[in-house]
Amino acid sequence: MNPIVIIGGGHAAAQLCAGLAEAGQASRVHLVCEEACEPYHRPPLSKTFLKSADQAMQPHRPANWFQDSGIHLHLGDPAVALDRAARTVTLRSGTVLPFERLVLATGSRARRLPALGDAALDNVITLRAADEAQRLRERLAQAQQVTVLGGGFIGLEVACTALALGKKVRVVEVAPRLLGRAVSPALSEHVLQTHRAAGMDIVLGASVGGFQAQGGRLASLEVNGESQPVDLLVLGIGAVPETALAQAAGIECADGVVVDAHMQTSDPAVLAVGDCTRFPDRRGGGGALRLESVQNANDQARTAVATLTGAPRAYDALPWFWSDQGSLRLQMAGLVPAQGTPGMVTVRRPGPNETAFSLLHYVDGQLVCVESVNAPMDHMMSRKLLEAGKSPAPEQAADAAVPLKSFLG
Ligand SMILES: Cc1cc2nc3c(=O)[nH]c(=O)nc-3n(C[C@H](O)[C@H](O)[C@H](O)COP(=O)(O)OP(=O)(O)OC[C@H]3O[C@@H](n4cnc5c(N)ncnc54)[C@H](O)[C@@H]3O)c2cc1C
Repeated sequence: MNPIVIIGGGHAAAQLCAGLAEAGQASRVHLVCEEACEPYHRPPLSKTFLKSADQAMQPHRPANWFQDSGIHLHLGDPAVALDRAARTVTLRSGTVLPFERLVLATGSRARRLPALGDAALDNVITLRAADEAQRLRERLAQAQQVTVLGGGFIGLEVACTALALGKKVRVVEVAPRLLGRAVSPALSEHVLQTHRAAGMDIVLGASVGGFQAQGGRLASLEVNGESQPVDLLVLGIGAVPETALAQAAGIECADGVVVDAHMQTSDPAVLAVGDCTRFPDRRGGGGALRLESVQNANDQARTAVATLTGAPRAYDALPWFWSDQGSLRLQMAGLVPAQGTPGMVTVRRPGPNETAFSLLHYVDGQLVCVESVNAPMDHMMSRKLLEAGKSPAPEQAADAAVPLKSFLG
């Protein structure tokens, strides 16, 4: 009966299933998951989950919700081939699923370091899935010293968690600043100072090499030409979109599966959602984006449900993101403009206490992005302002006595 096959069991897939079930389409849906468990929330993996063995995975839906809703679930059985002409997907078990519409929700994979080769080293860990988080938690319990390669969101979250567990933590970043791809230089600097003050050793602009393995473990690496012993190494060097199936099937890919504003790929029968996609930038200019965030996965899944149920509406969601790092709750609404953007002005708005503030970024007088630190109310109001296209005058927005809400008017 006109099956819809969804490949991938992460945030986007779970949201798709919920939307299709709500639309009375659950019995058409086959959900194909590489992982052996039902979809779960990924953000806690670098945060609360690592802190204690008592912390459990947080499933997206109550146990058995998928089966009880009538969705056909294929767990631990990844899709290995896509035949677009025959409209079938083959799973590793040999099961062949016919489809009328297919949705790729294959997410991204943690980037590996070519210099380390393919051999698994017991004390080198990437963090993407539950089994890796479980392994990291066990290794963290044994480690005295933790080296994190990469000062991005996941690397810093793990570093803060390790610090809170009493470990000696060193973060090694090759770029000149932390979080360089995602936040403004001012916020990078604040994060750097806060983590250093908390006792984290952070090396920026590092040159890294000289990896020495011994007995199935990484024994040492060189940072700026100096050999350093390794107890536990966490690789937080970014993620690459999982596009293998799409590429092999001849679907257009360019660092992500290319989709239009309706999540349609170059094949009209195939959609793609979440981390694996490259999609049109809502800011215009003909550019395209790839984002790795829960907001993006959920909102693109909602857009795909609209496309699949015959009520299409273009994807136009405001990007937002959060990261919890020790004493810092970082929340970003909108995308920070590239440094040197003509007409860019930034104002600092004090928050409700001395650890809190927001940076409001304007381009040509238009508010485009707000970065908040420990100021959740300002973040929520910023999202509303940005969604409504409202721009409070910078000098008024900088006055903490005036609630941002008042500009929504
Ligand atoms: C440790 C960690 C912390 C994070 N913290 C935050 C945060 O604080 N805030 C935030 O906004 N975002 C955070 N993110 C990012 C967020 O989790 C992702 O953007 C989101 O999970 C993307 O959803 P997705 O469904 O596109 O991909 P994923 O959730 O990655 O799911 C993709 C799924 O597809 C499966 N798959 C791949 N290929 C196949 C195949 N051939 N057959 C079957 N299944 C397949 C994979 O195994 C995986 O289960 C974090 C990510 C990680 C890893």
